[in-house]
Amino acid sequence: MPTNLRVGIVGGSVGGLFTGVLLHRQGYQVTVIERARHGLARRGAGLVVQEQVRRILGQVDRPDLAEVGVWTNERIVLDRRGEVISREHRPQMQMSWDLLYDGFRKLLPEQLYLTGAAVEYVERSEQRAQVSLIDGSTQAFDVLIGADGQGSTVRNYVNGDGSQGILPNYAGYVAWRGLVPEEAMPEQAKAQLFERMAFHFGEGIHALGYLIPGSDGQTRPGERRYNWVWYRTMPFEKLRDLLERAGRASALSLGPGELPEDIRDQLRADASALLPPSFAAAVTTEAQPFVQPIYDYETPRMINQRLALLGDAAFIARPHTAMGVAKAAGDAMTLAAAMAGRSIDEALAAYEKARTAQGQAVVDYGRSLGRSLSLVP
Ligand SMILES: Cc1cc2nc3c(=O)[nH]c(=O)nc-3n(C[C@H](O)[C@H](O)[C@H](O)COP(=O)(O)OP(=O)(O)OC[C@H]3O[C@@H](n4cnc5c(N)ncnc54)[C@H](O)[C@@H]3O)c2cc1C
Repeated sequence: MPTNLRVGIVGGSVGGLFTGVLLHRQGYQVTVIERARHGLARRGAGLVVQEQVRRILGQVDRPDLAEVGVWTNERIVLDRRGEVISREHRPQMQMSWDLLYDGFRKLLPEQLYLTGAAVEYVERSEQRAQVSLIDGSTQAFDVLIGADGQGSTVRNYVNGDGSQGILPNYAGYVAWRGLVPEEAMPEQAKAQLFERMAFHFGEGIHALGYLIPGSDGQTRPGERRYNWVWYRTMPFEKLRDLLERAGRASALSLGPGELPEDIRDQLRADASALLPPSFAAAVTTEAQPFVQPIYDYETPRMINQRLALLGDAAFIARPHTAMGVAKAAGDAMTLAAAMAGRSIDEALAAYEKARTAQGQAVVDYGRSLGRSLSLVP
């Protein structure tokens, strides 16, 4: 059903791409506006393939992508000295975030995906929405979807007039993270950690790790990466100092290469003092560890006039849920289904009605998982 209705999507990560591809297939005039200059290829880690991810891959005729990943056979828990204190047979596959991103990116014609295009301001009215980009240009749409993640700009216009930046709530702990090329890992750590999911629970500490595909989706032994995550309590003031020290005071997280050297060295020293030796080896082998502070956010509204929020822009669930991508896929499929055969206003209302409780439930679930880990005093 070709239509001349113009849909702008702010944010070209997976949430924006899911929505863009589905709506483009329904005949909408789609433009995805992504601020990253070179796209987001080769920046993601692994993800558990949830049902909604399978469903959206089925809808775009790429179910094969859900089968590409690295399998782990069991789960082990290590104590501080590195002894295995429990072992459970539990096969699970980790898909590559990059492969999912690349797969969807290829399904959208190149000219519909703008890169290096950051939205600075939004204007909304009953009939349309207009964005102003950082280069001073403007674009008008019949509907604008904010798929712009944790620090969403569109959110400020859905829940206000844009004059106030609405930030997510810091949960009191961070995830230090790294992705170590498989061959760089020390032999002893390989022997204990590879082909399984490993966990460690300590005082104000939760660490886990598993193999994920290589940066181009490789799943063969020798070409994979070890993904480690170390959750650790960090008071808000300390996080603020860290971001300031890195010269990124207004950022929500620090990516690879953005950590000041002395903080990276301290992280390595702390890992050796506090983590089981194999996890400590993974942390100290990582050349560019990065930090992801943990946030919660639930939007009071998902739509306002011709604006709608989707994915992390609307609801941020803690990573323990492993549901961020699945939630974005669920939002995109619901929105696309609502926009098939309804007026825009009816479709947006139906979308908000269908997804609000779902988003809230995932955020609540993340909070309860966080509480069970006792990471915050
Ligand atoms: C590079 C990257 C790698 C990731 N890797 C993983 C992973 O390995 N495993 C996992 O489970 N989850 C990963 N995630 C998170 C996961 O994608 C999200 O939690 C979830 O899918 C919801 O995604 P989203 O599209 O709503 O938001 P995000 O994935 O956060 O994407 C938001 C996008 O909006 C863009 N943006 C923000 N503001 C503006 C603006 N003003 N103008 C234009 N563009 C803007 C950002 O550059 C970003 O690309 C990753 C996210 C990113 C961005």
